[in-house]
Amino acid sequence: MPDHAAPQYDPISQQAKDTLFQAASYFGADDFALIEKACDYAFIKHQGQTRQSGEPYITHPIAVATEVAKWQLDAKTVVSALLHDVLEDTGTSKSELAKEFGGTIAEVVDGLSKLEKINFNNYIEHQAESFRKMVLAMVKDIRVLIVKLSDRLHNMRTLGSMRPDKRRRIARETLETYALLANRIGMNPVYRELQDLSFYNIHPRRYTVFQAALNRWHSEQKEAIAEIMQAFQLQLASYNIEAKIKTRQKNLYSIYNKMRGRHKRFAEVCNLYGLRIVVRSIDDCYRTMGALHALYKPRPGRFKDFIALPKSNGYQGLHTTLVGPKGVPIEVQIRTPAMHKTAEYGIAAHWLYQNRTDQMRDEAVIRTRQWLQNILALQQDSGNAIEFSEHIKVDLYQNEIYLFTPNGKILVLQRGSTPVDFAYAVHTDIGHSCIGAKVNGNPVPLRQRLHTGDTVEIITREDANPNPAWLSFVVSARARSAIRSRLKNIGKEDAIILGEKLLLQTLTQLLPQHLLVSETVKNKYLADLQSKNIRFEDVLYDVGMGKLLPVSVAMQIADLAGEKFGGKTKLSPIKISGSPVSNIHISTCCNPIPGDAIKAALIPEQGLIIHSDTCENLFRIPVENQLDADWDCLGKEGKFSTKISVISQDQPGLLATLAGCIAAQNANIENVEMPPQPEGKGDFVEMRFGLSVTDTKQLNQILHDIQSIPQIISAKRLYG
Ligand code: MN
Repeated sequence: MPDHAAPQYDPISQQAKDTLFQAASYFGADDFALIEKACDYAFIKHQGQTRQSGEPYITHPIAVATEVAKWQLDAKTVVSALLHDVLEDTGTSKSELAKEFGGTIAEVVDGLSKLEKINFNNYIEHQAESFRKMVLAMVKDIRVLIVKLSDRLHNMRTLGSMRPDKRRRIARETLETYALLANRIGMNPVYRELQDLSFYNIHPRRYTVFQAALNRWHSEQKEAIAEIMQAFQLQLASYNIEAKIKTRQKNLYSIYNKMRGRHKRFAEVCNLYGLRIVVRSIDDCYRTMGALHALYKPRPGRFKDFIALPKSNGYQGLHTTLVGPKGVPIEVQIRTPAMHKTAEYGIAAHWLYQNRTDQMRDEAVIRTRQWLQNILALQQDSGNAIEFSEHIKVDLYQNEIYLFTPNGKILVLQRGSTPVDFAYAVHTDIGHSCIGAKVNGNPVPLRQRLHTGDTVEIITREDANPNPAWLSFVVSARARSAIRSRLKNIGKEDAIILGEKLLLQTLTQLLPQHLLVSETVKNKYLADLQSKNIRFEDVLYDVGMGKLLPVSVAMQIADLAGEKFGGKTKLSPIKISGSPVSNIHISTCCNPIPGDAIKAALIPEQGLIIHSDTCENLFRIPVENQLDADWDCLGKEGKFSTKISVISQDQPGLLATLAGCIAAQNANIENVEMPPQPEGKGDFVEMRFGLSVTDTKQLNQILHDIQSIPQIISAKRLYG
């Protein structure tokens, strides 16, 4: 336990900590100790940092954790809340967090940091729905979202120290995204508070006027409401029903919206009483309803039994509207404590009810509802809110991925899409002229599958043309038909010319000189074609259209010649899209090793060079000269060179320990380097090893073994 001999808290931080521990008093000793440890850990990490308001930074994560504890969530969520800014702001690594607090917490905190990195400045309003879907799809563990909402809630409550324009911007973002996310996962009190805080920061004067009006209305109605509540209380007591009666909090933002939408005055929107009654059992719910209908006249047609027929989102309760003493309507909701919890803490997402008419047809609504129903089933099984959050993994929107263009536009593509699909989704011309792609700044092969949250940059060249081979991996109908129609436009003659060019290139590279000039080989090949009733022109056409790989033709010729020359032409059994080829080298720029995804690049005068699938140098090679390759058929055995970097606490004997790890896995060390240390990292050393290994499995085992040495901060492979 190196880092947390209990630190000395300053008075302000201590006060925050006391509040947290009070809110977390429902935890058992083990959980409480973990929270204590996380609090000390975060305190040390954030030491010296301050918030905009001048308070110690640690007060923020503690406040976020306090809120989460108030929601009665599990200890891991509270700990994640305490640590939520540690990865971003203090240079702590995910593996360090995992070591200290376990994998789940490290994952949640990492998820939070990723969420933080989404660029909101470029985010366009009409894409709000896509954005929300994207976040939900991206967040694998619902606890990420819960902590994020708590984080946003605290930031919104403490916006006061910021410039007004900044406050408005953050408030808009909150309204358009986080409030609606809270709504979607059914955290209704959070949803309403985020709305009101946003409203306050966008229109401070309107908010103040409304608040005053609402307060005035409340004090005017105070007696009337107290009278009604007392009448309720007496009536229920005479029926032997134990009940908690509360007024329902009015949401300023929703009043504001109703006034705007329906052109009504404040008094019209506001003029009704909202009461909520929580009773012990379902039976009591119905008896309460009967007792109240005997007290005040119910409004016909306003009684709704959501107990017998729960709303599709799982919400349960009885609703009725009574005609109050001065004719003022009283809206009453009757629930059991369990139903109340569901409505407040999730599941019964209020929004389904409010937005029913206009969004009913939206498929997302249906899927969300199914999701909510699943959660409801889960909750009934697990029985309490704490366990409940452990079980939820967000699995909304399984069939779509959400991608960013470099300037922040969001595109929704189907799962399994590649950069080529993306390019065609941006514009047909972008698709046609696409020659490469970068994902999150790193070059990737065009057939790589994309993931939600990826930023995709398409590299184009004006004279480029779609590669027929793309048809084998694109998933979108749009890309497929665009590629097909473009290829159709290539005239037969052009296709033959292209085929001839490609074939010539390939043959020159793959076949030895004496075969190329041999009339005998040529005749043999032509005779072979003739026997199969194929014209050479058709072969060229098929190569040009991408139906036949030039390598296959080279193979066929070499095979024929191989027989003739008595096995002189040795072909290594590499499988390149179905055909074995000779003359293969492993590139030294990216040092691929068996187990890595690879591509073979055809280089004039060198033959086939095997590159790692993601090697940047592949971009310099025309796509038509790149071929899929497969280690299994490469026939290469023995050792392959690779490099790793190890960062560790500086300690005598370290090198020997590391060498032992490597030797234990039967790998060889080719060289060791110690690069100069960057400023301020005096306690750590980096060592780079050149290794020869058999495959990625062996390499990963070595990295794993090294990582489990206590002094090691990180161990990773270096590419290139
Ligand atoms: Mn934060």
